[in-house]
Amino acid sequence: MLKCQICGKPADKHHIVYRSQGGVDFPLNFKYLCSEHHRGKSGPHKNRKLDLLYKVEMQQKLEKLLYKEFYTLDELVNLLQINKGMLKKLLKEYKLYKEGYRSFDVIYRLMGKKKYTEYMLQEYYDFIGNF
Ligand SMILES: [Zn+2]
Ligand SMILES: [Zn+2]
Repeated sequence: MLKCQICGKPADKHHIVYRSQGGVDFPLNFKYLCSEHHRGKSGPHKNRKLDLLYKVEMQQKLEKLLYKEFYTLDELVNLLQINKGMLKKLLKEYKLYKEGYRSFDVIYRLMGKKKYTEYMLQEYYDFIGNF
């Protein structure tokens, strides 16, 4: 059984970038959370700052993982453990260079076509998100 990554209770799968935000099914976009840490007051669906924190963390993991400037589709499939057909479709609107896809484009798309920054977290209370 899946366990909450915060408290260890039985958990559901949470999409860090929601599917409604263009989020994709692959392991780095999943977080396992119990009902309280998922949909409760202390979960990302109710706590917008936590939601943003999870997204910033995910983007940082992607930036660490895809540290080169370009990756081929096969490399991306391996690194991200993502379905090849789905990824190819997602990246169709981005330029395929002879070296591969640009990491920047891949990360941007996987984050739901948004660029998250730590600055957004620090300035959260002045920041009015549209999600
Ligand atoms: Zn929990
Ligand atoms: Zn969720």
